[in-house]
Amino acid sequence: MLMLALLLAAASPDWQLVPGSFERGRGPDGNTVLLDAPDGLIVVDTGRHQAHQDAILAAARARGKPIAAIVNTHWHLDHTGGNAELRAAYPDIPVYGSNAIDRALKGFFPRSRAGAEQFIASGKARPEQIAEIRRDMAAMDDLANLRPTQVVRSTGPTTIAGRRLDVHLEPYAATAGDVWLYAPKARLAIAGDLVVGLTPFMDTACPEGWRAALGHIAAVPFATLVPGHGAAMTRADFDSWRKAFDALLDCAGDTAERQTCIDGWMKDAAAFIPAADKDRVPGMIGYYIDTRLRASPEEKARFCPGGPG
Ligand SMILES: [Zn+2]
Repeated sequence: MLMLALLLAAASPDWQLVPGSFERGRGPDGNTVLLDAPDGLIVVDTGRHQAHQDAILAAARARGKPIAAIVNTHWHLDHTGGNAELRAAYPDIPVYGSNAIDRALKGFFPRSRAGAEQFIASGKARPEQIAEIRRDMAAMDDLANLRPTQVVRSTGPTTIAGRRLDVHLEPYAATAGDVWLYAPKARLAIAGDLVVGLTPFMDTACPEGWRAALGHIAAVPFATLVPGHGAAMTRADFDSWRKAFDALLDCAGDTAERQTCIDGWMKDAAAFIPAADKDRVPGMIGYYIDTRLRASPEEKARFCPGGPG
């Protein structure tokens, strides 16, 4: 009987991944995880594009439960852009997230809006790029759906939709407030963009805080880790990705040639970079070396404690 129960438990996990996407020429959708809870489903991250939100809603219907709560791992629009669509279908559901978005509202959002408007005014934006920009701007304007209704202020056990989860807050990592979850029964870690196989997205990163956050993830006994983008990882996968991350920071912090650091990442993280993406990842790593890891001291400190954001 016990064996049967174990087999059934293995056959029907109490969570489900709705994979994100990262097509060329448009912004990505982060991964979404649906977690079964006594009051319905917890949706962790909501993607950016309508097709992703449609996939979340379809997966929820197939599980036969209402969506009862949203958790946003961080405020980036590829993880929060679908809050409005889900809350249109399930009105007034709570949104859990850090208050780092308040910092973004003063810094990152106005800067990115100004840059996008300049790009449109230049006449170089293709129609689909303009549509994408307009979609992001509409999401940025919809603060009622973007900002959390339940602010995560510290690390600790939290009951969401009737399910007890370990909710972790990393104050300065991929953003100024990254939330990641550990579901003990499922031995599942949901890491958000603290882990992204292809390349760490460092646009709003405090790299040393991020490095520390990976140590906190390593300290929980997860068996499966869902990264912010890309396929689920085993613990061994995570360990090897973390080594690649540390090596990239060490290389960029040293006097090594820029290309050496890029080549190092391509080798160390090779298992996490799909063949179809091998040509575009070196450019991304180079970009993050230039704009974050080897930027001016002021720029490097921008998203760290005391920085302007
Ligand atoms: Zn992301």
